[in-house]
Formats: sequence, C-alpha cells, structure tokens
Amino acid sequence: MDKVVGILGGCGGQLGRMLAASAALLNIDVVVLDVGEHTPSKQVIAPRAPHLTHIDGSFTDPAKIRKLAAKVDVLTVEIEHVDVSVLEEIESQVPLGVHPSPSTIKTIQDKFVQKQHLHASGCPISDFLPVESTVEAVHAAADRLGLPLMLKSRTLAYDGRGNFVIRELSQAQEAITALGGRPLYAEKWVPFVKEIAVMVVRSRSGEVLSYPVVETIHKENICHLVFAPLRSRDPSISERARTVAENAVKKLEGAGVFGVEMFLMADGSVYLNEIAPRPHNSGHYTIEACETSQYENHLRAILSLPLGSPALKVPSACMLNILGASTSMDEIRSFAQLSLTIPGARVHLYGKSECRKGRKMGHITIVADSDAQLSARLRPLLEHLPGGHD
Ligand code: ATP
Ligand code: MG
Ligand code: MG
Repeated sequence: MDKVVGILGGCGGQLGRMLAASAALLNIDVVVLDVGEHTPSKQVIAPRAPHLTHIDGSFTDPAKIRKLAAKVDVLTVEIEHVDVSVLEEIESQVPLGVHPSPSTIKTIQDKFVQKQHLHASGCPISDFLPVESTVEAVHAAADRLGLPLMLKSRTLAYDGRGNFVIRELSQAQEAITALGGRPLYAEKWVPFVKEIAVMVVRSRSGEVLSYPVVETIHKENICHLVFAPLRSRDPSISERARTVAENAVKKLEGAGVFGVEMFLMADGSVYLNEIAPRPHNSGHYTIEACETSQYENHLRAILSLPLGSPALKVPSACMLNILGASTSMDEIRSFAQLSLTIPGARVHLYGKSECRKGRKMGHITIVADSDAQLSARLRPLLEHLPGGHD
C-alpha cells in the first residue's frame, strides 16, 4: 500500500504485534517505537529499508517520538498513556497525522475527564465525583454516592490497578495509600449482571461501524474470556449496546478502532464504563471470527482505505487469554500445544521473552457452529489452564 505506519508501543507489545501482522498482509510498512530491540511487535516486520528501522526507546521520550514521526506517514498508539503534548506538536508534521487524535487521547487518558466528556455527550454512565486524596473527601464521596464506592486513579490505570473498592469508610486511608498518591475520582458502584464490550471503527470522515457485542469475563481485573456474540434471548440488548458504543465514538475525534467497555444491568439497560482508543483485548476474537479484524480495520481507518465489514462470519466464538501463572515458560508452551488439539482453535503467542504471574503471554480463539459446540471445545482448555484449574 506504499504507506508507513508508526506505532508508539508500550502495552506489552501484543497489540502492536497483531497490528504489524495485519499490516504485513497488506504490504504496509510498520515502524515501532518501544523499549528493546526484539519486542513482540518488532519481531513481526523486518524493516524493508534502512530508513524504516525500528526505534529503541520509550513512548514517554519526546526525542524518540519525534524521530518516529519523521519516518512515517501516519502515527498510531497501542497505549493511551502517552505524552500528548509531543503528539500535538508533531501532528501537523506527519503527512496523515496522528490517529486516534491527540485530543481524543488526552480526553481518554484522564478517566475523570473522560467521564465528564461522556456525561456531556449524553452517554449513560454511573454517577461520579472528583475526590481529593484525603480521608474526609473520600468519606464525603461515600456520603454522596453510597457504599460500596469505586475509588479510581484518574491516570495511568490498567488491569484494575488504579481501582480500589471501598466497602467500609474505615478503608479510606488504605485506599488512598494503595492508589499511590495519584489524582483520584469516585464512581457510584454499578451492580451489573454482565460486562460487555463493543469494538467500534471510525473512519477519518467520522463514519462508524460497530462489531458484535461480546461478553467479557475478568479474573482479578484481567480479561480472562470473551464470548461472541452476546448470549441473550433479547436482541434489543445488543442493539442498545451497539448504539451506545457508536454514539460515544462519534463524539470523539480521529480515526481508528475503539474498545467500548460497558456494564449490562438486570433490566437490560447499559452503562458505559470506559473507552480504549485503540485495538482492545475484547476484540482479539475478530481475527478469526469476523469478516475484517479490528487490526485490519484500524489500519484501513487511519490510512483512509475503505472500511471492512465487522460482521461475524461464524455462529459462535470465544477468546481465552493465556496468562502467566509463574515465571514458567514451559507451562505456557504445553498449554499452547494442548490448544492445537482442539478443533476450531487458533493459538496466538506474543513472543515475550519472560513470563510472570498475570502477564498476557498469548491467547486462543475458538470458533464453532453453535454455543454448545463452543463450550465443549473450550472445556478441556479451562481444565488445563497454566497454574491449575479455573
Ligand atoms: P482496563 O484494563 O480495562 O483498562 P482499568 O484499570 O481501566 O481496566 P476499569 O475498567 O475502570 O479499570 O475497571 C476494572 C473493572 O472494575 C471493571 O472491568 C469492572 O469489573 C470493575 N468496575 C469498574 N468500575 C466499576 C463500578 N463503577 N462499579 C462496579 N464495578 C466496577
Ligand atoms: Mg482502562
Ligand atoms: Mg476497563
């Protein structure tokens, strides 16, 4: 396609790796900035010319970001915790700009500002308040919003690491300490019945297409399983969730895919939790299960190519994250090997050099002709997860 995409890496590398793999199929060159010479994304595309060599450096280093910008036609991110001021500075120097736009990243990377934006845009969200890092302020927030109270760090949050659930007022100081002195806000507790998500792709002209609604199941705040499509007897739930997700993404600037996390309530209503301005763990399944993967549509969107259909092409699919249980790579290898014996399963390993407890080492997507067949195919994998039984 004769275009060069720059990726600001830093989220472990798997999103950049799958984006690069997708780019390779379209002859799109990719230059990656992240720490290390042989990171997961850099392993995928060998530079075609000396000016396309990858860059070793941090997504927080302005000089390295400028160096990356000088090499590419469009710049994108695999993490939202980047230096927005540098992106704003270089935006006009990169021929096709920075996508998602720095203004969107700025809104999203501060979760309190994100909530304010979603509220102002008419998206359904739970009540929220800014909170000073004092016991009195946390107590006042609990007075207003009730217990349990979800106290969240405004910045640098991922895998639930910026969250603290306050069940009793006596936990206020513990929560402030645990959240490490970062600016905070509080959310009213949402008694959801399921967590769901929708990937939405937005073209440069603002056209949006949504993927099917999926159910996401977390274990210790880390995505564990994703089921597609949402299993529900009421089709209006999926319609509602897709509309909420599409409307939210329409109110953001810039092209690309967005992961919209939502809560499904017992009465079928939906609350928006948060938006990721990039490919998302809940969209990995799209590689095998949809007409166009989230990665390919991200590339198409940021390069002004025609968007592809997000429709499911199989009746039932799921994605199982392969999370490290210890430092043992052998456990990961033998689990991956087991998945090769499962019909309809495809394993993705991320090429990480070290394994740690809770680290995303890979994932498995299973497709099937029915939900029952899917469950039967998934069962032996759940029984042999690294580190023991589910
Ligand atoms: P991610 O890894 O998805 O970026 P994160 O660290 O940004 O996660 P959130 O998505 O805000 O964190 O919250 C993590 C999890 O905590 C949610 O998936 C949900 O299970 C729970 N949670 C978040 N907010 C609320 C709430 N207001 N009420 C109840 N549970 C919540
Ligand atoms: Mg988040
Ligand atoms: Mg989340």
